[in-house]
Amino acid sequence: MIVYKFGGASVKSSDGIKNIVQIVSSVQDDLFIVVSAMGKTTNAMEVVLDFFMKAEREAALEKLTEVESYHQQIISELFDDKTVGEKAVEPLFDQLKHFLNEAVGNDYDRWYDQLVSYGEVISTAIVSAFLQESGVENKWLDMRELLVTDSNFREANVNYLESEKRLKAAVDFSKHKVYIGQGFIGTTMKGLPTTLGREGSDYTAAVVGNLLDASGVTIWKDVPGILNADPRIFPGTVLIPELSYLDAVELAYSGAQIIHPKTIKPLENKQIPLFVRPFGSPHEAGSVIKATPSQIEVPILILKKNQVLVTLRPLDFSFILEESLTWIFTVVEKYRLKVALIQSSAISISICVDNSRYLQRALDELANDYKVSYNTGLELLTIRGTNAEIISRTTEGREILVQQKTRRIARILMREK
Ligand code: ASP
Ligand code: MG
Repeated sequence: MIVYKFGGASVKSSDGIKNIVQIVSSVQDDLFIVVSAMGKTTNAMEVVLDFFMKAEREAALEKLTEVESYHQQIISELFDDKTVGEKAVEPLFDQLKHFLNEAVGNDYDRWYDQLVSYGEVISTAIVSAFLQESGVENKWLDMRELLVTDSNFREANVNYLESEKRLKAAVDFSKHKVYIGQGFIGTTMKGLPTTLGREGSDYTAAVVGNLLDASGVTIWKDVPGILNADPRIFPGTVLIPELSYLDAVELAYSGAQIIHPKTIKPLENKQIPLFVRPFGSPHEAGSVIKATPSQIEVPILILKKNQVLVTLRPLDFSFILEESLTWIFTVVEKYRLKVALIQSSAISISICVDNSRYLQRALDELANDYKVSYNTGLELLTIRGTNAEIISRTTEGREILVQQKTRRIARILMREK
């Protein structure tokens, strides 16, 4: 069997969904399709949630109506008889309205997963119904019953054993050739919805591939494949046809937005190739990530924005590496800070982290034992296959806060332009 994943950009319009039918129709293998929320729906649902948490019901419902109209528009463009599509989503919007009218938002992370997960549920309901109508018989699955996670809401961790049991019980390719399920969402053991972190649908596709022993996982993207840099930022980019799992992990972790960082491990563990292919030109091969000895010839540049450099110095003057690291990283873990770079001296440590919702709280806690200073508005440039010429070209005229260099990789933290 194989897994295909279609992201938000692929399902943002009726044309995109029609293109999925085209792509899926020519597949011979047993197929599991993972789909994200349509377009910018997750962002919109985050706005709904924010109003809900502030008990601004009217505003929350109004924003939800926008989300509903957007989906209705797509439905009316897709279906000859639009009541077919409407029937698929109506109960889902009713459930959401019920929450917004009746419930009280108290725990942000938990409500996030309860409400925002509907983006994926709604999109898969539409895509499944439209595939059916287009002659692609398929079975819709609710990953809020099948993909079991812990209760680390908003960034849940998959329970492989339990998910495998449930998924294998639900999927039988002798009954249906095509299954479709949501990316990004899962359930706790007790049945509460969870999400896997923003852009987590790639990760779902990888986990499903792992659990069902796929021969390949394909992520369909609105780019030609994996490029050596973001073409919106750097000129003269080229396609990298083949990457090793190791290179892919490094790239994703450095901030290459092409794949979610967690995606590689479940695939590497079972040596399943990951194809990244262009949704707009399905005849093109794109890129493949696999156990390959082939060397990448070109330098790769990755820019990670919205970074913060935090410097900590123990108030009691103790040595940082011997005495403080464990505690600092306990706090980092507790507030889910994503560390991209670490630099230490005798009595201070600097860490570069993503700017995030819980950063201030983490800094407050650290301030009990450390003198805390920090800079926001930074960007981290990672260059793999580095040389002096590239470094000087990409950092010209920039204020550099930290620069690290190993044989192959340079990492430069600079103020945003
Ligand atoms: N819909 C989710 C998001 O926008 C998950 C995903 O697209 O992968 O973050
Ligand atoms: Mg997405």
